[in-house]
Amino acid sequence: MIRIKTEKQIDGIRRSCKLLSAMYRELMPLVKPGVQTIDLDRWVRDWIRKAGGRPVFLGYGPRKNPFPAAICISINNEVIHGLPGRRKIREGDLVSLDCGIELEGYISDQAVTLEAGKVAPEIHALNTVTRECLYKGIAAAKAGDRLLQIARAVSGHAKTGNYGVVHQFCGHGVGMELHEDPQVPNCPHGPNPRLSAGMVIAIEPMINLGTGEVEILDDDWTVVTGDDKPSAHWEHTVAIFGDHTEILTDPLE
Ligand code: MG
Ligand code: MG
Repeated sequence: MIRIKTEKQIDGIRRSCKLLSAMYRELMPLVKPGVQTIDLDRWVRDWIRKAGGRPVFLGYGPRKNPFPAAICISINNEVIHGLPGRRKIREGDLVSLDCGIELEGYISDQAVTLEAGKVAPEIHALNTVTRECLYKGIAAAKAGDRLLQIARAVSGHAKTGNYGVVHQFCGHGVGMELHEDPQVPNCPHGPNPRLSAGMVIAIEPMINLGTGEVEILDDDWTVVTGDDKPSAHWEHTVAIFGDHTEILTDPLE
């Protein structure tokens, strides 16, 4: 069931999104070579709690193996759901960050991919194209149009550069829960409902330098590319209105 949000609910989700983006603006300068990813996670937990929010990723998932951190940190061949730990970020790493906040019952979701120091030109290009895919997808998200227009825009742009589009994971409705209907794929397959005013969705292309195939590691969380080539991930939470679509999270590039 797709939840149609009221104006008041969208106002609440927007406040949650603005807080999340404010967190990212302070976090991003800390993501640099030599930093241990567990320290970034601690920083994020503290920041969100001090701001009066709740880190929604922490404890999310199955009871016997809940997500152990407030933020996903996925480096190089890791696509999404990377676990913060003792690993240190190194010069040339491609570092994807994905985080969500609950504020007064309203949930936001945003991801960015940062380049630690100087990355290889093909990795910088992958990151640029992935961010472009996000904005192509958002431009295709319009009330009255069908959901898979987003996937056509995302995958169409990725294919122009011969990149792999991850099809096993996708965006989603968001706002009252972290993952709501509908699924918002990056490849055009599956249900294709009409987009309508009051829908709030997370659009999140995951684009690989190699093929779009992915695998899940033994920790049951970390998603990696099947060919070990790097991957990038960008995400905004957006609200569909009758006459326009608003990006609720702030641009961070
Ligand atoms: Mg996310
Ligand atoms: Mg998401």
